[in-house]
Amino acid sequence: MRVRDHIALSTAAAALLYPFVGKRAALAWGASILIDVDHYLWFVANERRLDPVAALQFFNAAHPPPASNVRWLHSPVALAGAAVAAAKRRALLPAALGMAAHVAVDIYHDSRMKRAQAAALVRDGYRCQECGAKDETVTAHTRSQPVLLPSYKVGNFVALCGPCHAAAHQLDTRRHPRRLTRVAGSRA
Ligand SMILES: [Zn+2]
Ligand SMILES: [Zn+2]
Repeated sequence: MRVRDHIALSTAAAALLYPFVGKRAALAWGASILIDVDHYLWFVANERRLDPVAALQFFNAAHPPPASNVRWLHSPVALAGAAVAAAKRRALLPAALGMAAHVAVDIYHDSRMKRAQAAALVRDGYRCQECGAKDETVTAHTRSQPVLLPSYKVGNFVALCGPCHAAAHQLDTRRHPRRLTRVAGSRA
């Protein structure tokens, strides 16, 4: 899920919880957002650049390298580590819960996206809607999304072949060079 969607959901949840748990809501909020830095750190380490806009454009490509999808802060090992730390120091429990909530939201989001994309491919007969190609490179591209919070409507997705998909992302980047359309985790 996009970083901005996570920020919106986490902020709403923290605001709701604040009257009951006080500052602990802020700790959970921070952890649920900072968990996404693993992506940026991957970019910095591999591309040797610090530019956050370049990082978002990198992850916005139609086919970022699969290695870039390794998310160590999202891994079961990191979550288990957070749980162990919280068991030792109760003050850290909200941070562990914030991380777990973030990963749970990601899992829900990915499954809804996959279902909508599969339905779009069936609707389009697995044929690229740009050039008509019908081969194994055809995948569902996210044509549009609301500014805030995702939509899983099938109409938001379209079947495109590999080259047309890459071209669609390039066009999107050129039209909106600073628009932070998509970040990894919700790609395609
Ligand atoms: Zn095509
Ligand atoms: Zn796409």
